[in-house]
Amino acid sequence: MGRGWGRPGHPTGGPARAELLRRSNLALVLGEIAAGGRGARAQLAERTGLTKATVSSLADTLIATGLVVECDPDRGLVGRPGNPLRLASTGPVGLGIEINVDYVSACIVDLAGEVRSFAALPGDNRTVAPGDVLERAARLADSLLASPAMSSRPVAGLHVALPGLVDVDGVLRRAPNLRWLEGLEVAARVGEIISARSARPLGAVGAGNEANLAALAELWFGDSTDLDTFVRVSGEIGVGAGIVIRGALWGGAAGLAGEIGHVLVDAGGPRCTCGARGCLEQVAGQEAVLAAAGIDTARQPSTDPVRALLASAAAGDRATQAALDRAGSALGVALAGVVNVVDLPTVVLGGVYAEVATWLLPALARELADRVVSYSWAPTGVAVSRLGARAAVRGAAGLAIRAVLEDPGSWPSGPSRVRTRRPQARATGTDRSAGPT
Ligand SMILES: [Zn+2]
Repeated sequence: MGRGWGRPGHPTGGPARAELLRRSNLALVLGEIAAGGRGARAQLAERTGLTKATVSSLADTLIATGLVVECDPDRGLVGRPGNPLRLASTGPVGLGIEINVDYVSACIVDLAGEVRSFAALPGDNRTVAPGDVLERAARLADSLLASPAMSSRPVAGLHVALPGLVDVDGVLRRAPNLRWLEGLEVAARVGEIISARSARPLGAVGAGNEANLAALAELWFGDSTDLDTFVRVSGEIGVGAGIVIRGALWGGAAGLAGEIGHVLVDAGGPRCTCGARGCLEQVAGQEAVLAAAGIDTARQPSTDPVRALLASAAAGDRATQAALDRAGSALGVALAGVVNVVDLPTVVLGGVYAEVATWLLPALARELADRVVSYSWAPTGVAVSRLGARAAVRGAAGLAIRAVLEDPGSWPSGPSRVRTRRPQARATGTDRSAGPT
């Protein structure tokens, strides 16, 4: 006996009220403007299917709340073309922070998703007191917000990208490479430090896994406009993945999906930071590859390990090339498993993997071809990300803006409202029409 139909889904999730309808239409019109449709009210009415009077009223609200501005009519048009609407360049910004194993970074994006400000501070966070790292991250973000160009811009929200499992309350539950952060509400703590320094409202505050946020950045800001279903694997000291299905992040039951770094690739392999043996991270993580290549950055702490790895591979060093080949093969084995289980047409390499893709790709492609069961008629595509080291922090900042685009009726929010908001995972099957492009 099954469980029956349960309670079928409903477009509005409950009784449809006029207010809900208006908020939904507000998002529809703003989404159309954000998608680059530089149209006047009449064209927006045509494109959205709303009446001109409704569009006009919604546009007035968007202008009054500072999200949209009205421009002069485009020259050369005959008749009365009307004033085109576009996203306000003085509108709210999203603030992202990333705290990773060997750096902290901060990023500000505008309503269009463009990076307005970015800064990173390298340094091994495994050996620093937790309070110091949170303080350093907050100071870095505060310095970006205090710049002349940003000091008057309202902040839509703050999201923090973290190298571990973040639960629904914004608590970092597990971070094998940054144990001291476990159990902390990192985003709320960083938000409090920034607010105390600048007395500036930060909007909704939340935290998420860095690989998931990097996958969202790939979806919104990556090169390919038709990439909407993929797994993006990020190589750093830890290895993580974010899965996007039909334009929405797939987080699993509790938002914890994508922990590819702890998938078994070598049963007899070395002990991992998670406690198990033979995890992907122990073969294809940045430190494992450096060790296998014989590159000892501990002796020269000022050397950028990834630059050293690239130089050694490009110089034809056999140990380095063999280490990268082995990493590519292990990655291919793990990714083939993901592709077989979830059915994904494309694999995207990000982080360090994007930089060393030349040496990873042959073995990786070979494993996918050998192991993906649908490969003979639907070969898995492999793409290399061009977002660089900013992907996760840009995704974090973008998430704050995305929340405004999805529900512009909630903007502007009340003063000094600091609350933890679960960031990423949405049900699959929704579209991305309101996303910045
Ligand atoms: Zn592990």
